[in-house]
Amino acid sequence: MMASKVEKTHALQQCFSTESLISSLGLGIFCLVADRLLRFPIIHQNDWLRALSDNIVHGVIGMWSWAVVIGIKKKADFGEVLLAGFLASVIDIDHFFLARSLSLKAALTLPRRPFLHCSTVIPVAVMSVKLAMHLLRLRDAWCFLPWMLFISWASHHIRDGIRHGLWICPFGKTSPLPFWLYVITTLSLPHMCSFLMHLTGTRQMMSSKHGMRIDV
Ligand SMILES: [Zn+2]
Repeated sequence: MMASKVEKTHALQQCFSTESLISSLGLGIFCLVADRLLRFPIIHQNDWLRALSDNIVHGVIGMWSWAVVIGIKKKADFGEVLLAGFLASVIDIDHFFLARSLSLKAALTLPRRPFLHCSTVIPVAVMSVKLAMHLLRLRDAWCFLPWMLFISWASHHIRDGIRHGLWICPFGKTSPLPFWLYVITTLSLPHMCSFLMHLTGTRQMMSSKHGMRIDV
């Protein structure tokens, strides 16, 4: 779908509003602070505490990113934000699947990286969700879901990438990502997605849905 120049300008204004820029700047600062906190010996030396806080940070980044995209205005928006956080955190469950055990020690000492950490999975999952929604005719009410999945999972992979690099199966993996690249990508991802959502009409469909919710 081609958007007119006016529409593109409007989309840009929406995606780079002062409000959203301040919010994503806060996200960048959170990334820096979280990284510092996780390096505290009391957290770093305890497997459970480290795994748990690491997973919480993934969740918060997912929530924050989605909040930048939609800009929380009503209580109802918070449900979406929570869902984004859940999606960003839940990926790490594959560690336990691969270990075939609930033991954290087993999950942390895997011979290879678990499958949800392969970045090729992201476009495949996003397209599958899109297709499933089309088949189930869920398109309008849940039109945000593929984008939410993309942002939540991409942010998780990028953050894991600082230590492990990106794993693009079957092609292999990159070297660990520089920290600055992680921060820049994380805070620009919601703006990029928001812009694309405007251009593809998803944003408009969402606001009409949200608008209906107010009327009820
Ligand atoms: Zn992970």
